[in-house]
Amino acid sequence: MSDKRNMHRPAQRKKQVSRKELVLFTRIKAVFCMFLFAVAVVVCVKVVQGLTQSNAIATTPQNAGAVDDNAAQQADVPADPPKQTQAPESTPDDSVKETEQTKKNGKDVTEKGYTIETIDGITYVDGVVIANKSYPLPKDYDPGFSEEAQAAFDKLSADAYNDGIYLFICSGYRSYEMQDELYNSYVADWGKKKADTFSARPGYSEHQTGFAMDINDASDSFIGTPEAEWLEKHCTDYGFIIRYKKDKESITGYKYEPWHIRYLGVKLAKKVEKSGLCLEEYFGIDSHYAEDDKKTKD
Ligand SMILES: [Zn+2]
Repeated sequence: MSDKRNMHRPAQRKKQVSRKELVLFTRIKAVFCMFLFAVAVVVCVKVVQGLTQSNAIATTPQNAGAVDDNAAQQADVPADPPKQTQAPESTPDDSVKETEQTKKNGKDVTEKGYTIETIDGITYVDGVVIANKSYPLPKDYDPGFSEEAQAAFDKLSADAYNDGIYLFICSGYRSYEMQDELYNSYVADWGKKKADTFSARPGYSEHQTGFAMDINDASDSFIGTPEAEWLEKHCTDYGFIIRYKKDKESITGYKYEPWHIRYLGVKLAKKVEKSGLCLEEYFGIDSHYAEDDKKTKD
């Protein structure tokens, strides 16, 4: 018995140990499996990231919009440093994004970066109403003469008078119909080509904005007079610019007209004058009839 017991006991012990071992082994196996699973998951994630990153690099030059934003976030650090050393702020991508956003907002910008928008057929550049050969006004746009421009001119003429200079408005606001009549009378007298150099076609006249006016004598005989000199020297102090300057004919589309002034407000008038540019150059816009462009192309 005792022998049997002795023989049995170790056997029982062996059985007990092996069970423990089995449990331990099972646990180790479970842990190992979990570890393998975790490794597999990590490997999968890395592979997916790698694919996304390579896609992002392939698409970046073409579309640098929102998709690339995500790609940039997902892309691992190693891919970026060479780019960053070349372009620290990554400005090209940003500028593309900005341009796309500007278009999305429905606003466009001029060559000089000023906002240009059309509201009810009227063009505004940086909030300033524009009328030239590229940007006409609607036929029914009839704002009348600007009270602000009138008040500014009253001040200007009073100060000029104190200097012994007599200035008066010989032509202020002109409606579409008035311009139509005037332009056609010039065409009848001078022909269309000549008339276009000094008179706007109906709808294209700055006089229709209510912010433009001709002073004293709207003709070449005004050039070089003390009145013209005073006006040119002082008009920006009151918010006006000489709109059609000398040597800017090819840009404004009109010959030199020292009698035609445009109200912009003192701040902008002084900025434009200081720049030495005509209004088209300052804002970065054109002034030529689309109809004439077609003829040139034909
Ligand atoms: Zn005029």
